[in-house]
Amino acid sequence: MTDPRRRLPSVDSLLADPEIAGLASGHPRGVVVRAVRAAVDEARAGGGSAPDRGWAAAVTAQLALVATPSLVPVINATGVVLHTNLGRALLPRAAADAMLRVAQSYASVEYDLGRGARGSRHAICRDVLVELTGAADALVVNNAAAALVLALSALARDGEAIVSRGELVEIGGAFRVPDILARSGARLVEVGTTNRTHVDDYVKAMTPKTRALLKVHRSNFRVTGFTAEVDASELAQLGRAGGGAAASLYDLGSGLLLDLSRWGLTGEPLVRDAVASGVDLVVFSGDKLLGGPQAGIMLGAKPAIEACRADPLARAVRADKYTLAALEATLGLYRDPERARIEIPTLRMLTEDVGAIKDRGEKISEGVRRQGVGGNDVGRKAYTIDLVEGFSEVGGGSFPEAKLPTWLVQLKADTLTADSVIQRLRASDPPVIARIENNHVVLDPRTILPDQVATVAQAVAGALDG
Ligand SMILES: *Cc1c(COP(=O)(O)O)cnc(C)c1O
Repeated sequence: MTDPRRRLPSVDSLLADPEIAGLASGHPRGVVVRAVRAAVDEARAGGGSAPDRGWAAAVTAQLALVATPSLVPVINATGVVLHTNLGRALLPRAAADAMLRVAQSYASVEYDLGRGARGSRHAICRDVLVELTGAADALVVNNAAAALVLALSALARDGEAIVSRGELVEIGGAFRVPDILARSGARLVEVGTTNRTHVDDYVKAMTPKTRALLKVHRSNFRVTGFTAEVDASELAQLGRAGGGAAASLYDLGSGLLLDLSRWGLTGEPLVRDAVASGVDLVVFSGDKLLGGPQAGIMLGAKPAIEACRADPLARAVRADKYTLAALEATLGLYRDPERARIEIPTLRMLTEDVGAIKDRGEKISEGVRRQGVGGNDVGRKAYTIDLVEGFSEVGGGSFPEAKLPTWLVQLKADTLTADSVIQRLRASDPPVIARIENNHVVLDPRTILPDQVATVAQAVAGALDG
């Protein structure tokens, strides 16, 4: 018996087909070849017969796929504010504007306009960071993981770095503190136990080879019960007592600049307090609680920052002009804390009044009903849309235990499974990403922007219909 897959036409013979050759007039040849290959692969994977709709239609469909960008905006209806898979923080308007301004223009990235000579990109966000945090000096790199590698490379390479066993964490996305340490060329010395580490553990582990005392914020989980950890200030003191041979480093993770305890958000260290603890270096992310672009922010004593700046790795992990423009604009908003809370989307979502969230939920439900679905409309299948109480999450490994009260738009479709509804929402344009709770699809308006309400209602109506 012959394998039907052998009977599939070759890519060349399909390209010679007049109908398919006709497609080549509207697309670059390389793209058509890719689409033809994909259509043949699809047919092979589907059992080896020619596509029912014909080869030309199959190739046309593949051409559309090839032309579709893989990075597209989506609507986050999950209620996870810092959703890492959906790109974490949304930029404030001022930051997006600043980014756009430098994107299509030359910019003073490394040019000192006063002197008319070469300047340093490292000067760009430094002063505002110093002003907002009380640090002596600052450096911005590509992300916090890079900042940590750079810090350990600059300060502890070929030496020992002491870390508590309770802080040898995995942050996610294959980012594990022991691996980072190994890459930076420092040797890891573990002290303490999973639940308890004392200053004395560090003291006993210190040798003439000790170059760094590292503290890592346990971003994505909490250790409770019989626990003890060493404060950043104690590590700073220990470093100084050793005559400065060992630098104290604090990986803060999220980078909270505003106290959010008024909104029930507690337990995440404030950047200002971390700096005030006296450690030589504090590092954190730009796109977590700070609410800016992806960046790694390093704050600390002048010698420590200077050593990082001078390390060859600093060049490999440098921030680009878009990041610096967006970060500078975001930081500028923090000069007026109330303005920052309102204009920085991450902070606005985290502190939004639950009444306003409910209001958006009602608008979505009404919008769906107006499209003719929902309830038990005559001639329609039965759907129910309810507003139910629930919780949103902060995400991004920040405030891991916080449960933010919210109102969820709950969808019940009699003839569709929750899985198929959520999949239809994902297939709408723009895709709407929801979640399933108690077997029902729910949309959390906390992370749905006011100008997305009508679009979401339309997507929900489309998903529930038929
Ligand atoms: C998130 C996190 C990082 C990594 O930050 P990126 O900016 O994503 O590189 C590092 N350390 C801690 C403790 C974190 O929570």
